[in-house]
Amino acid sequence: MIDAPSPNHDERGVPVSMVVLHYTGMKTGAEALARLRDPAAKVSAHYMVEEDGRLYRLVPEERRAWHAGVAEWHGRRDVNAMSVGIEIVNPGHEFGYRDFPEVQMQTVLELLRQIRRRYDVAPENVVGHSDVAPDRKDDPGERFPWDRLAREALALAPWDGRAPDDVPEAPEALRRLARLGYGVEAFGSGPCVTAFQRRFAPTLLGEGLGRRTRAAIGAVTNR
Ligand SMILES: [Zn+2]
Repeated sequence: MIDAPSPNHDERGVPVSMVVLHYTGMKTGAEALARLRDPAAKVSAHYMVEEDGRLYRLVPEERRAWHAGVAEWHGRRDVNAMSVGIEIVNPGHEFGYRDFPEVQMQTVLELLRQIRRRYDVAPENVVGHSDVAPDRKDDPGERFPWDRLAREALALAPWDGRAPDDVPEAPEALRRLARLGYGVEAFGSGPCVTAFQRRFAPTLLGEGLGRRTRAAIGAVTNR
C-alpha cells in the first residue's frame, strides 16, 4: 500500500455501511492520482487501484472522501458519508474502456475483504457509482466483473439468465428496483433501468424495461 494523501476530505459523521466502486475515466492512472490529490479539484477517494495492482491510500477510512457527488441509495443522499470510495484505474468509456486486468482485480478483492472485516457492509450495499448516480455516471461499467465479488459474497451476484416464474410487470419491476436501493423517484426510471442492466445484466444494456429486463429484475430481487 502506497500512501498518497489527498487533502480532499472532511468529517464523516455516520458509520461506514457502503462501498462505492468507480473507474477513473482518465487516460492514465498518474493523471487520475494527481486530480484526486488536487485541492482545486475537490474530489477524492479513499483508495485508487492501478492496473498493475498497486494500491494507493489517499484518504483515511474514518474521514469522508468526495467521490460520489449528487447520489442516492436506499433513499439516503449522503453517500460519501456512508461509504468507502475506491477508484479503479481504467480509461473508461471516454478514453478506451477495457477489461480490468487480473492483477488489478486481485488487489480490489483483497481490499474489499479487508473492508468487510472492518465494517458491517451488506453485499447489496457494495455498488457502482452508476448505481447511486444513474443520471450522470457509467462507472465502473459493464465490463466490471461483479461475479468475482459475488463468489466471495462481497457483492450481489449478476443475473444468471434464468427467468423467474412470475415476471414482474413494469410498475412492480420499478418498485423492486427501488427496494434494491435505486433512486427511481429521484433519477427517473430510465436511468435506473440502464444502471441495473450495467450492473446485473450487461447483455441487456440498452434494451429498456422489456420482458427480459423485467425477468432479470425479478430474478435478482427474488433471492
Ligand atoms: Zn465515479
